[in-house]
Amino acid sequence: MAGEMREDMEQLLYTEEQLQTRVRELGAAITRDYAGRQPFFLGVLKGCFVFMADLLRAVDLPCELEFMAVKSYRGTSSSGQPEITRDLTRNVEGMDIVIVEDILDTGVTLDYLRQYLLGPRKAASVRIVTMFDKPEGRDPALKGKIEADYVGFPVPKAFVVGYGLDYNERYRNLPYVGILKPECRD
Ligand code: 5GP
Repeated sequence: MAGEMREDMEQLLYTEEQLQTRVRELGAAITRDYAGRQPFFLGVLKGCFVFMADLLRAVDLPCELEFMAVKSYRGTSSSGQPEITRDLTRNVEGMDIVIVEDILDTGVTLDYLRQYLLGPRKAASVRIVTMFDKPEGRDPALKGKIEADYVGFPVPKAFVVGYGLDYNERYRNLPYVGILKPECRD
């Protein structure tokens, strides 16, 4: 049960209620900004799946969605080029894309993805919505260059889990988000 894992948390950052309220606000902002258009929501797997499901139900516009998966080489040298492991299955030329991300950390993944969509994929526009932003984690080369257009909540420079975010594939199902105790990270 998700509730049984709360003791694995060193600190609870945002409750389920806070997350749900904020997602509705983000959905309303996107609905306002894209009025009269049909945004194409592109989720970055796997972490986005919870946020994507909640966000889309808070958006009151005709829209489509797709998922991509991008492997970033964390832990190796930070300049490791991300690799697309699940590509788009349709043409997005001329579309207004909203990338849906769980957390923006170094910015390497989103910088790469945005260039890919605007370049070879010829999207008309790309905006980013991220549920969590770790501004202190930004790669120095990307500071100020890659920022999200819509941010749910800031988080400190720590390893956070819950609301789609995992540690070794666990904890994604927690309805809240928090910092995992070091002893739970084997
Ligand atoms: P970036 O390219 O911005 O460094 O990486 C973003 C990806 O790194 C996120 O989509 C997520 O998968 C992973 N990530 C970054 N920080 C955290 C964190 O605190 N917790 C978890 N679970 N994943 C993170």
